[in-house]
Amino acid sequence: MRGFSTNAIHAGQEPDPTTGAVIVPIHASSTFAQDGVGGLRNGYEYSRSANPTRTALQECLAALEGGRHGFAFGSGMGASDVLLRVLLRPGDHIVIPHDAYGGTFRLVDKVLTQWGIEYSTADLGDVHALRAALRPTTKVVWCETPTNPLLGIADIAAVAEASHAGGAKLVVDNTFASPYLQTPLALGADVVLHSTTKYVGGHSDVVGGALVTSDDEVAEQIRFTQNSVGSVPGPFDTWLTLRGAKTLAVRMERHSDNAERVAEMLGAHPAVSQVLYPGLATHPGHEVAAKQMRRFGGMVSFRVAAGREAALAVCAGTELFTLAESLGGVESLIEHPAAMTHASVAGSALEVPDDLVRLSVGIEDVDDLLEDLRGALGRL
Ligand SMILES: *Cc1c(COP(=O)(O)O)cnc(C)c1O
Repeated sequence: MRGFSTNAIHAGQEPDPTTGAVIVPIHASSTFAQDGVGGLRNGYEYSRSANPTRTALQECLAALEGGRHGFAFGSGMGASDVLLRVLLRPGDHIVIPHDAYGGTFRLVDKVLTQWGIEYSTADLGDVHALRAALRPTTKVVWCETPTNPLLGIADIAAVAEASHAGGAKLVVDNTFASPYLQTPLALGADVVLHSTTKYVGGHSDVVGGALVTSDDEVAEQIRFTQNSVGSVPGPFDTWLTLRGAKTLAVRMERHSDNAERVAEMLGAHPAVSQVLYPGLATHPGHEVAAKQMRRFGGMVSFRVAAGREAALAVCAGTELFTLAESLGGVESLIEHPAAMTHASVAGSALEVPDDLVRLSVGIEDVDDLLEDLRGALGRL
């Protein structure tokens, strides 16, 4: 079996058979010529159903996650929507994390409930809490690890076992870890989801999503539903995502190097009351993270001792860390979850502390990042 980076650079990406182009072309064509009625060349007919640039990305992502089937979407939420339509029917129940990604919570709470889907939230870091949340009608358990923005860790193998024992399929949203750090299918997950907008694309220049599974039946239903509802990415976007994926391994190594240094510095800083990073030995999920992740990634959250106003001041006080939502790009970002990414969950079970700051640590020179954060904390 080939290594991760070899797959990232070559899987699905043979030189173009007609021209020898080393890089997969952007196949900007909505339709494909047929050799006689029904005589498709290489199976391509119409780009909603399949497009060669998209096929290359899908084969690459499937190889990176160690799955048989990959599907690329126009966004992470587009992928979630199609997957949940495949796995759930009216009357079914889904368990989502108590600190699920806000958009996932909204999709389940505001959209799927209109179609007769029931849901519960549970702390998936605690398998007993998951078992207690399962019902006879539970068809899906939705897991994120590390979670956003609290960087909680779930034991994927244990969650898979509990889900399967309860008759449910396990979906893992692997956006925060990326396939370089963690491959959930190998740990028992049935389907892996990505917002490729984040680490897989990696350059904050394209929105996209993906699903990977080795379950042939689920894959066939995803293929049918995706084509039926038209939730597909364009060839330019898939090409950008594929270009980003080639460097995923080197970027994740550097993100992890830099985040470890940032977490260490913050942990020793008097203005910081708590650092949430699974790479720290003091993190409650550290052991599980060390077991299932190659390294600990680029996301670091911390609580500011002086409270909400001080946390807002830190977010406004950095220069290199840009104040913005999203994550996973080469540049460092800072945000205040309670007022920004998680504002919509205020008052719900998913509410986050208002002294919390979330960092997406980029791959700049780490000394510059440390100085920037020290400066903002020092001005409090
Ligand atoms: C961003 C994100 C999503 C949604 O993806 P989009 O590409 O923005 O639609 C889903 N899950 C997680 C963990 C995310 O960070």
